[in-house]
Amino acid sequence: MKFRNFKMVDYVVYGRGCFNQLDEIIAPRRKEGKPMIFLVDHFFEGKALLNRIPLRGNDKIVFADVTYEPKTTQVDKLAQQLKDEFGTVSGIIGIGGGSTMDLAKAVSLMMGNPGSSADYQGWDLVKFPGVYKVGIPTLSGTGAEVSRTCVLTGPTRKLGMNSDFTPFDQIVLDPELTANAPINQRFYTGMDCYIHCIESLEGTYLNEFSKSYGEKALELCQEVFVKKQVWDDECDDKLMMASYAGGMSIAYSQVGVAHAVSYGLSYLLGTKHGIGNCIVMNHLEEYYPAGVKEFKYMVEKNQIDIPQGICKGLTDEQFETMINVSIGMKPLWENALGKDWEKIMTREKLRALFEKL
Ligand code: NAD
Ligand code: ZN
Repeated sequence: MKFRNFKMVDYVVYGRGCFNQLDEIIAPRRKEGKPMIFLVDHFFEGKALLNRIPLRGNDKIVFADVTYEPKTTQVDKLAQQLKDEFGTVSGIIGIGGGSTMDLAKAVSLMMGNPGSSADYQGWDLVKFPGVYKVGIPTLSGTGAEVSRTCVLTGPTRKLGMNSDFTPFDQIVLDPELTANAPINQRFYTGMDCYIHCIESLEGTYLNEFSKSYGEKALELCQEVFVKKQVWDDECDDKLMMASYAGGMSIAYSQVGVAHAVSYGLSYLLGTKHGIGNCIVMNHLEEYYPAGVKEFKYMVEKNQIDIPQGICKGLTDEQFETMINVSIGMKPLWENALGKDWEKIMTREKLRALFEKL
């Protein structure tokens, strides 16, 4: 048995309004003449948050277009623009949901590594550290703020740049930034966390490290989506810590069936991570009976729309593509179903599941 030696985020600040400390936090990391780049989710274009960004010298705000999930081409282009304009930069500060945070991690890494980000999709392929990077979530649930990956769609696969250089140097967890996110979006991203917990806690890779974080994250998700009657500040506070703890839980275990199937959807149809997981979770009674029951209750209680019938009319070839992508996620299946998972989740069974979605 080889135990994983897990690289964590270096610094964490948490609390309502802690975003106001950003100027002071990043000051020691500024390099003479080299700007800090604030990569901001395009949702905030024209919003008041921009006036609170501590711009100094030749610092720059760059808006991240997250209409689609991050692509390697998008990362390469952003990094090249910064290299052309500044040579190098003091740091990249990603402010947004999981997509923006992943973009920030990837662009930071590409400021220190040659070639294309597509060359580094996989495990431990990144050779050199990137520039200083900070993650500031404005949606809670993905756990991207603590993970050692940044998920990218490349020319041949959707896979993260998993490495010890990938985690942020600093994260700023300010629940105020997540207030007023649209109800459906908040739910989809929040459910990403809930599903991380179920998949981790029900998985064969479970250990006390993952369990202690997973149980706490699950409890926080339940307080927010099951017990609370009206959304308030406390919900934002709790969900932000649920995301953090859920991320820590899967960092030392693995996700499972919902994620493996959702990756297939996302690859073929471009279905986004949070909503894709929800579409799949809706049909996983066989694997996670208690979790799916509670999930359905939360959908109803929070009056959320989960799309149905998204695989209607797809061709055999398209189903094959999704099955190939999904079945390729071996550690996820092994975690979910055990060493003999291939006997349990056959291609026929997976096809039948996709047809239900
Ligand atoms: P997102 O970042 O894709 O954003 C979804 C939408 O919400 C966008 O339109 C965005 O502009 C908007 N938005 C963001 N903050 C907002 C706010 N405060 N108010 C209103 N709108 C806001 O959504 P997400 O669910 O946070 O992230 C999904 C992404 O995270 C996917 O690309 C997925 O691959 C990635 N992910 C990464 C990891 C990891 O470990 N690195 C884990 C899970 C998911
Ligand atoms: Zn996820």
